[in-house]
Amino acid sequence: MSLDKRDLQKCIHCGLCLQACPTYVTTGEEAESPRGRIYLMRQAVEGRLEWGAVKPHIDACMGCLGCQTACPSGVPYANLIEGARAEVERHARMPFQRWVRQQAIGNFTNPVRLRLMLALGRAMRMRTAPRWLARFLGAPESAVRLPKLPPKRFISQTVYPAVSNPPKARVGLLAGCVMQALFGAVHEATIRLLTLAGYEVQVPQAGCCGALWAHNGYPDRARACARRLMRAFESLDYVVVNSAGCGSTMKEYAHLLRGAKEQAQAEAFSQKVRDISELLAQSELPAPTRPVPIRATMHDACHLVHGQGIREQPRQLLERLPDLEIVEMEGAEMCCGSAGIYNLLQPQLAKASLQRKIEAIQKTGAQVVVSANPGCTLWIAQGLHEANLSVEVLHPMELLARGY
Ligand code: SF4
Ligand code: SF4
Repeated sequence: MSLDKRDLQKCIHCGLCLQACPTYVTTGEEAESPRGRIYLMRQAVEGRLEWGAVKPHIDACMGCLGCQTACPSGVPYANLIEGARAEVERHARMPFQRWVRQQAIGNFTNPVRLRLMLALGRAMRMRTAPRWLARFLGAPESAVRLPKLPPKRFISQTVYPAVSNPPKARVGLLAGCVMQALFGAVHEATIRLLTLAGYEVQVPQAGCCGALWAHNGYPDRARACARRLMRAFESLDYVVVNSAGCGSTMKEYAHLLRGAKEQAQAEAFSQKVRDISELLAQSELPAPTRPVPIRATMHDACHLVHGQGIREQPRQLLERLPDLEIVEMEGAEMCCGSAGIYNLLQPQLAKASLQRKIEAIQKTGAQVVVSANPGCTLWIAQGLHEANLSVEVLHPMELLARGY
């Protein structure tokens, strides 16, 4: 994944993206804005600046893509930031720090190792991720609380028949890594709703989609994940994803594998990828049978709203629930600061974004916040806990399943 100079030249420096950028809103500094970062990338690509000098500003970017949505000039910021991260890794990261990062990502993206690490952390009565890990990764402090370990609910049955016969289509659900380790209940709700809507569901054990690798500057590792997933889902009609970050990456496999011999296969694969709310919103799901008298507010995960352009579908599905009230929060489309492992690496900027999100949630008086990305869910739940607010954070499918 390399930086394309033509993509950099699309920026006309209008500044319309600035107020959509959480790091600019927090710092007010041009170098922490999309326009400033694009300018710095261009300087480095043209050899007028060392990548080492650009690195702090690339590291401070949340990769939230709020700027991509706001940009009238069609700057493909997702490609730019992933390309810039790969350059930083190649030129500016110390080998030991790079090795520690790779180990950390390798452990996060393995559901068995992730559960083991969390169990160990809790047995040692750790409340946050270890300070030494944060330091090795290049962060000044550790701000991420260790989440509670939910009961183990790895999906064991590999085929779930549709309620109707014959099934409408055969879909494969991405089990994933963090989703599988910590959000088995979301997978259960997703499978239930898909089978109710007439789909036969299979859950291939194919591992990580490569999102964390791609977003942190390791495109080769991401490509290896993509190849494995494409093989595992080859025979299915749709690939269904209930984690925004994973879905966004899987829709971009054609870009990730551009120039590789699998490019055509990647294009066909990406065409089959659907976020769960995208597929259910255009399916005939029976009407809910139970009232859900709750006031809820929507947090639009960046990789759903900006990465995939999906905003209305989760709302349309939830509006079908009898007695559910949806109250929109201010800045629903603004990043909460979780951003993969960003909250571990950039705790101060991540906390400032979280603070804004928690204040916006509080103003709505909602009992439930809806979030379609596991990182956002954990981070917002941490913020609510620290603010002493008793608000539940649920995936849209968990909330929707309460109506059946
Ligand atoms: S991706 Fe997000 S944090 Fe990065 S420049 Fe764009 S808006 Fe700002
Ligand atoms: S909105 Fe687009 S063109 Fe304008 S400064 Fe931002 S990235 Fe550049």
